[in-house]
Amino acid sequence: MPELPEVETSKRDLEIFFTGAPVAGIRIHEKRIRVGAPPQDLPGSGWVGAGIGRHGKTLIMGFSRPGTNLPAGESAADRGTLFLLSRFGMSGSWRRIDSRTNPPHSHLEIRFSDRRSRLVWVDPRRFGRIEFAGDPRTAHLLSQVGPDALAISPDDLGTLLSSTSRPLRGALMDQRLLAGVGNIYMAEILFAARLSPFRESRSLSSSETLALWAALQSVLEAAITEGGSTIHSFSREDGRAGGYQRHHLVYGREGLPCTGCGLPVQRTTLEARSLYHCLFCQPG
Ligand SMILES: [Zn+2]
Repeated sequence: MPELPEVETSKRDLEIFFTGAPVAGIRIHEKRIRVGAPPQDLPGSGWVGAGIGRHGKTLIMGFSRPGTNLPAGESAADRGTLFLLSRFGMSGSWRRIDSRTNPPHSHLEIRFSDRRSRLVWVDPRRFGRIEFAGDPRTAHLLSQVGPDALAISPDDLGTLLSSTSRPLRGALMDQRLLAGVGNIYMAEILFAARLSPFRESRSLSSSETLALWAALQSVLEAAITEGGSTIHSFSREDGRAGGYQRHHLVYGREGLPCTGCGLPVQRTTLEARSLYHCLFCQPG
């Protein structure tokens, strides 16, 4: 399942292609993946790709209407007049397609007037969602989502963790608290911070909170550098796989020696998901 590094990889892969590209039209093949009302007019002739942003696991494409003077801003939220949000779910991905035929499970496509490639939203399992919004900050897909895991400050992470008695594993993956972390990176981040996934979130000392924040940043940044992790289905816009799965230290390594202590990595099944951790390096 794509998490923050995979969505950020898609953003970086698509940004240069998309930004400034003249739109020819958008076609929706599968309406059931859409959240919210469709816009009065979909971007078409005269519209331009304005920029791409990301919040947690949601990608935000900004489009600008004909004749709009775009304010120069850092985020895509400042750069468009209509936005297409995509939440990747279990198996969603954006693909750049040159051929005339779309791959199977293509639900939406964006065509451009000056280039042969189209951007196609592909999602075999259909748990992903797309939404058109005039302002991404008021979109349904982001209405109950916490701060972005890469943008949060150590102090804010501490405040957020002190608000819940839930174990760290659940709190880190709760998108309402913190946006971007799922099952794979939760395991890697807690191992890097040497914290047990079963620790009560509000029991962390300030130095443990700082270690967790540092692990959050370093693991996510390293994964982005490698183009994300490909476990089941994630692929980049040109079909390439990510590379970070080769650097996983606990995820998917049940029974293999822990890189910290040599004892076998544990796998525990909780709520139908596999949790990987080391009993010695992550005590408690
Ligand atoms: Zn260990």
